[in-house]
Amino acid sequence: MSDPSPSPWRYVAEDHAFCDTGDFETEHTIEDAFGVAIAGGFASGRLDDEQVEANLRLMASAPEMAARIEKLDAQNKALISAMEGFIQEVTDALPTQNCECHRAPPCSDCSEYGAIRIAVADAKASLAKATGQEIQK
Ligand SMILES: [Zn+2]
Repeated sequence: MSDPSPSPWRYVAEDHAFCDTGDFETEHTIEDAFGVAIAGGFASGRLDDEQVEANLRLMASAPEMAARIEKLDAQNKALISAMEGFIQEVTDALPTQNCECHRAPPCSDCSEYGAIRIAVADAKASLAKATGQEIQK
């Protein structure tokens, strides 16, 4: 798994002794470049230090990740809208398909418009995948 947190962040593990029992518990913290704790907690004992560090780095990066997802969603919506318009314009400009390849391959329709028809079909398939909708013919 890649490290989701920026490089200035630092993981700190500090043992805290209990004066009454003699046991200790490890406090795990992610600090920013100024030493301010961004995320932290005590391990439950079920996770090793490496797993706790990985979880804390994910928690610390949550606001950054949420902002990134929001930005990607906006970009995705803009791209989908542009793709829909582009497909519509290209489809409107294409003549009705009139393949005569069964008589004399490759026919003039396929020679002239085959590549763009495939590109439109690919674009529609990608759009359908991106929007989770059925491919529109
Ligand atoms: Zn043809």
